[in-house]
Amino acid sequence: MNKKNIEDIVRKEIIKSVIDSQEFIIAGNWKMNKTKHEVISFLDQVANHNFGNKNKIIIAPPNPYLYLFEDKLRYSQVLYGVQNLFPKESGAFTGELSYEMARDFGAKYAILGHSERRMLFNECNEFVSKKVRICVQNNIQPILCIGENLDQRIGGEYKQHLSNQIKEGLVRISGDELKDVIIAYEPIWAIGTGETATPDQVEETHMFLRKYLIDEYGKELGEKIPLLYGGSVKTSNVLDLALAQSVSGFLIGGASLDAQSLIEINNILN
Ligand code: PEP
Repeated sequence: MNKKNIEDIVRKEIIKSVIDSQEFIIAGNWKMNKTKHEVISFLDQVANHNFGNKNKIIIAPPNPYLYLFEDKLRYSQVLYGVQNLFPKESGAFTGELSYEMARDFGAKYAILGHSERRMLFNECNEFVSKKVRICVQNNIQPILCIGENLDQRIGGEYKQHLSNQIKEGLVRISGDELKDVIIAYEPIWAIGTGETATPDQVEETHMFLRKYLIDEYGKELGEKIPLLYGGSVKTSNVLDLALAQSVSGFLIGGASLDAQSLIEINNILN
């Protein structure tokens, strides 16, 4: 056996042991995509699929399709949530969705503060923090999205921006409640652009975020809060990104729309 073969075998063994030792969260954000017919076809492919018992699969479809998820995923390993919530119980809030409505259809997660909502609908940290609060109080796990734009990345102020988004987004959460929070780091310049952050950039940012969480909320909680990466994740890059330190999983847009690509991503991380 030559040196190259030995190196390949060692590399494969190391990758296997890293992937084996980690339970990944694989969360899909469908945004405003799919028809009813397409949703049914997707659910038929994943409902009885054996995803193994290591990773957690979560999908956030558009709200009108939640009833299909409730119906078809009753006995499935696939969990689901919503892409947004309004931080009130009920009332005169035209076009909005309450936590109770989401829960009525079995949603267990809510993506909050996604950069598209921050940019297109002017959502600020203060508003997002109210959403985080109402979710945690009512048994819906928030997936708090944070991320910097290209100018902030190039200008070097992205770390300050990210830690601010966490601090202000979680300002209404305290102590043990933090264990229910999931954070998704999604650099805006890498969302839907095909441009992925490199594994080194992801590792550097996630290590910074992990340290920030530990410093801010203590070692026990700070080490446990899952830190997802999102931004043009797909079958071809997910393994390299998964090997970056402090990556607990992924928030995936485009590549989560196709059932076979979601299954393949889970296979790679299994
Ligand atoms: C997202 O919408 O959160 C996202 C990461 O999208 P994409 O994977 O398509 O970049």
